[in-house]
Amino acid sequence: MSGAITSSTTTSGKNLIESSLSPNDAIYRRVIPAGDPWIHEISRGQYFRIVDLHGNQAVDTLFYNAHDYSDRYSAQDTIQQQGNIYLTTGTKLISTNGAALMTIVADTCGRHDTLGGACANESNMVRYAIEKRHMHACRSSFLKAVTEWGHGMSKRDITSNINFFMNVPVTPEGKLTFEDGISDPGKYVEMRAEMDVLALISNCPQLNNPCNAYNPTPVEVLIWDAGL
Ligand SMILES: [Zn+2]
Repeated sequence: MSGAITSSTTTSGKNLIESSLSPNDAIYRRVIPAGDPWIHEISRGQYFRIVDLHGNQAVDTLFYNAHDYSDRYSAQDTIQQQGNIYLTTGTKLISTNGAALMTIVADTCGRHDTLGGACANESNMVRYAIEKRHMHACRSSFLKAVTEWGHGMSKRDITSNINFFMNVPVTPEGKLTFEDGISDPGKYVEMRAEMDVLALISNCPQLNNPCNAYNPTPVEVLIWDAGL
């Protein structure tokens, strides 16, 4: 069954879709503390929701084919297939082999970024200040998670990611701009797994730009079994 039943259009014209799934029926619920990584397998047909508990949090995310980590999320193929740079309801998250990893089936935020990339110690230093080098960053969180996960995963598996709830509008001139978030407390995005996937999240610890209002906060992840 599709998780989506209710749709509404905001003043900005975005189509917002709510889910019919109840958190009480979820088989898995976990709060990811601000700044922490999370790694977990999601089976084909399961539904996966990320809830922005406090609003304006950036959730840096990667997906892999659970049976072949070299087949992983491709920002380029995803953008090309849907002909749009923003991710929302209806977006299929496409792998490097051209297969759908996940389909976004509900979205109460309305727009997610896949161009801005993940923060790193090096880019913090270049963008903000040399003293920022040792601050926590998403690339370090990703690396910590895959190293602990094992199964041969390493730095080379950290590729272009999705930034759920992050607002990176592109100007008519093609410039990327990191703007204040458009998400609010309790907004969520929900996906159906189109194959067995490995999900990897860095709940962004960034303190230097407005993507999370300079204040990283926890998010919740939930999983429902197929056929509810
Ligand atoms: Zn980050």
